[in-house]
Amino acid sequence: MSRAGRRAELHPLWTAALLTAVGCGDDGPVVADLVMRGGVVATVDSANSLVEALAIDDGWVVATGDDGEIASYIGPDTEVIELDGRLAVPGFIEGHGHLLGLGAGKTILDLNAATSWQGIVSMVADAVADADPGKWIRGRGWHQEKWDEPPDPAVAGHPTHASLSAVSPANPVLLVHASGHAAFANAAALEAAGYERGSEPPPGGELQRDAEGNLTGLLRETAQRPVAAAYERSLADLSPEETEARFRREVALATEEALSKGVTSFHDAGASFATIDRLRRLEDEDALQIRLYVMARSQNEELERRLAEYYMPSEGDDYLVVRSIKRQIDGALGSHGAWLLEPYADLPSSTGLVLESVEDISATAHLAIRHGFQLSTHAIGDRANREVLDIYEAVFDSADAGRDLRWRIEHAQHVHPSDIARFAELGVIASVQGIHATSDAPWVPLRIGDERAAERTYLWRTLLDAGVVVGNGTDTPVEDIDPLASFRASVTRQTAAGSVFHPEQRMTREEALRSYTLSNAYAAFEEEYKGSLEVGKVGDVVVLDRDILTVPDADLAEARVDLTVVGGVVRYSRQVRHVVDPLR
Ligand SMILES: [Zn+2]
Repeated sequence: MSRAGRRAELHPLWTAALLTAVGCGDDGPVVADLVMRGGVVATVDSANSLVEALAIDDGWVVATGDDGEIASYIGPDTEVIELDGRLAVPGFIEGHGHLLGLGAGKTILDLNAATSWQGIVSMVADAVADADPGKWIRGRGWHQEKWDEPPDPAVAGHPTHASLSAVSPANPVLLVHASGHAAFANAAALEAAGYERGSEPPPGGELQRDAEGNLTGLLRETAQRPVAAAYERSLADLSPEETEARFRREVALATEEALSKGVTSFHDAGASFATIDRLRRLEDEDALQIRLYVMARSQNEELERRLAEYYMPSEGDDYLVVRSIKRQIDGALGSHGAWLLEPYADLPSSTGLVLESVEDISATAHLAIRHGFQLSTHAIGDRANREVLDIYEAVFDSADAGRDLRWRIEHAQHVHPSDIARFAELGVIASVQGIHATSDAPWVPLRIGDERAAERTYLWRTLLDAGVVVGNGTDTPVEDIDPLASFRASVTRQTAAGSVFHPEQRMTREEALRSYTLSNAYAAFEEEYKGSLEVGKVGDVVVLDRDILTVPDADLAEARVDLTVVGGVVRYSRQVRHVVDPLR
């Protein structure tokens, strides 16, 4: 096809941009910066077309096709990557993660591999030996289901802070559960938070007590917040330079991790305005190396005051987009925090916790409409999902806002079957995490029983068949950011132990790839610019060591990212490791 012909196919919006991108209106041959050829390029276009090769110039995809067609884009300065039969896909878009949490997680104790409480106490003891008195010791990732021996002493199966306090009398310790929905604090941390024997937790939280009424140190949901706030206060001693350096280090560590796993865009599910200000400065310095879609997280009073000056929709080749608000109606299932329609099977006195009230979130919804923002609300339990759909529907109707606002429900994990069609009717996006299903499968039936587990949990097939847009992600640092692990969970529903959790809800390979690319682009109003490898879209590409669209299920676990390309620049290579150091 002639070059003029290619141009004629472009979306009108893009014709102008591309003419600038290739720097001409003349009819000489386009010489691309980067060509990939000799492989299988999964374009994720409307027909799921597969081609052999693609060309990227000045950050944009300028052609896709067979090797012969793309040959004309190769000039003396073109970087040519031989795919040698490998699969290239659009850069993965993490649909729901926590950027600074991911970065900070690299600087604190990683408790994911701990197989006993005693092992965790030893790790803390080692950290205390290296720390000045008063300095906080933080960790994340413990999970009681991974322990091969029960803690002793224990209260309702959980350890008490006595052992932690014994090894760390002068250093506050805060150890967050893998889910983020519970944490352990030692005596010094409880004291720093102002917690004492008779204390009540904030609404939506719970302080565990032993038979004598003493705090055990286990904090559920919002009960963690006073301790986290005490830690934040301890940071007030840092100079502005130290604070900025710390922030940059966390962004750099998170970016490095994301690129190594093939993530080229990242939806950050909740950042303060102060954090957005810092990210803005990085964007101004061209220092961001993955594309961020950041949800603003605050109270209504501050949202009202500041939303207007923070509206930053995508302009195409963008590294920082802000046009969404994050709220959270309930907690998580593992910690009995998910808000359920009926009580927990293993805790009949409870239907879960409400973290932010319906009235509060409704008020945010009105603010969002007024300022042209999307609303993204965390909802895990079936009651929580229903309440959020009710809020969205009422606000859409009262504002006469139609049904194409693309509001999101984050997690959409347990949904009553009668609410499925409402997602489609309201145009609400289900922002799910494939990997959560296989991580949680071993204990979901304990919490809600077999029947509800079968009919109401991780209903991806049902949602997709109803016409709902389903995005995918990992909620990193709750899970490893690895999209290939979440892809595998999405298409196999196979747990680490090898069992398969309600396979009738699996996605197809094509659906799972789309959920991680184009659907997440749509969920950020960016499908015109990215999410597929088509002419006029950004040159964000991942090369994999095997074809995840065709290899047997058993081979998916071994799949690796070979190359990560953002805007036509190779940012990660498995052979060379980090081609361009983030933020350096
Ligand atoms: Zn989250």
